[in-house]
Amino acid sequence: ERMMEIRRKNCNPMIMKVTSYKKPVFIHQGHMQWLWDVDGKRYLDLFAGVATVSVGHCHPKVTAAAEQQLKRLWHTTNIYVYPPLHEYCEKLASYLPDPLKVVYLTNSGSEANDLAMLMARLYTGNFDIITFRGSYHGGSPQTMGLTSNAAYKYPIANGLGCTNTMCPDVFRGPWGGSHCRDSPVQTIRECSCAQGYCMANDQYIGQLKETFATSVPSRIAAFFGEPIQGVGGAVQYPKNYLKEAYKLVRERGGVCIADEVQTGFGRTGSHFWGFQGHDVIPDMVTMAKGIGNGFPMGAVVTTPEIAASFAKGVHFNTFGGNPVACAVASSVLDTIKEDGAQQNSLNVGTYLMTELAKLRDKYEIIGDVRGKGLQIGVEMVKDKASREPLPPEAMSEIFEDIKDMGALIGKGGVYGQTFRIKPPMCITMEDADFFLAIFNKSIHNYMERR
Ligand code: PMP
Repeated sequence: ERMMEIRRKNCNPMIMKVTSYKKPVFIHQGHMQWLWDVDGKRYLDLFAGVATVSVGHCHPKVTAAAEQQLKRLWHTTNIYVYPPLHEYCEKLASYLPDPLKVVYLTNSGSEANDLAMLMARLYTGNFDIITFRGSYHGGSPQTMGLTSNAAYKYPIANGLGCTNTMCPDVFRGPWGGSHCRDSPVQTIRECSCAQGYCMANDQYIGQLKETFATSVPSRIAAFFGEPIQGVGGAVQYPKNYLKEAYKLVRERGGVCIADEVQTGFGRTGSHFWGFQGHDVIPDMVTMAKGIGNGFPMGAVVTTPEIAASFAKGVHFNTFGGNPVACAVASSVLDTIKEDGAQQNSLNVGTYLMTELAKLRDKYEIIGDVRGKGLQIGVEMVKDKASREPLPPEAMSEIFEDIKDMGALIGKGGVYGQTFRIKPPMCITMEDADFFLAIFNKSIHNYMERR
């Protein structure tokens, strides 16, 4: 009660909206894939603070690295040379292909995307920036402008980031809500390749070319694309789609920016970075979330050429490259490797998607199961024939029931119709079974009540 009163009086009222549980959960403690509330009830965390807790809550190794650095040095600025920053930049760069070798450290994904926008405009001398429909790129005024997903933006932000008047409607995803119900596109379920990206593509690539020809300016600064849309509801692109988009963008003088805020750090399982699943090399990669396992951090990694053009001016931020953040992030990279987190993401993610697909075949209201590794979306519909999104009240009922049975997941999609499953990458097959039983029961309960 007291917490709720404080929340009402003193906290940003926006969190009340985002808190979609009717009976809120008061989280008190976390360990690896588990969270405990103030009453000691345990939850399997399948949302990971929005795909952020990459290797596990309070992972002992990462915690030890943070503790060690906290006792040595908390803060200085990059005016000085201090080892954690340099060691981390070298290590992070080693995870990226040539020529992506110059690292800028920030404090969040929005800040990374803001910086990337500025760098792209300075480098190309162009101004217009384009993104995909349904995208999410941040909550700062500029990146909110880049964000296409109307559920997450104030209309006033239009034009601040994405200056192309409407962010071309290049692709809406195989189901992508109800808005492409006539589309003959093959969905992931018919795809025999568990890795995804095998959907029929000719028609979509044709539409992409058409969109560029008709509504993209002849000169652009940049294109931002998530390798798999996260907030948009695990929306994937057809095979070669991103590759073609990169080609069309570069023909217009623009740079290609992969927003890896959700897809980076092994989450998609088969690759360390999401863009590697599309056979492209971006000119800039932006990242955050999983980079610090929950410690606030972000980064832009770009080419020496773009960095040289940016170095003509001055850019400074106080906290970017904070010693504790660098020590944590460095330990996260080591831990992903030592714990086999990426491989586990692929194994458990593939298992979850296979089993969820069985539930999709069983229940009329599960429209689509898609994603890659531990970046999974389950799109809920009124029924399979109409493909209308399951209404928010129904989504909430199921969501609440899942929580009461001990599992936490997320919601997303343009209509809030997609359940999002993106747990810490230490989740086990047993945990997957635990969740699947709960998910099955919650849908069963809903169907009974309906
Ligand atoms: N890009 C993507 C793909 C994201 O999912 C998010 C956050 N949901 C952001 C950027 C913005 O990151 P942050 O909230 O750390 O500013």
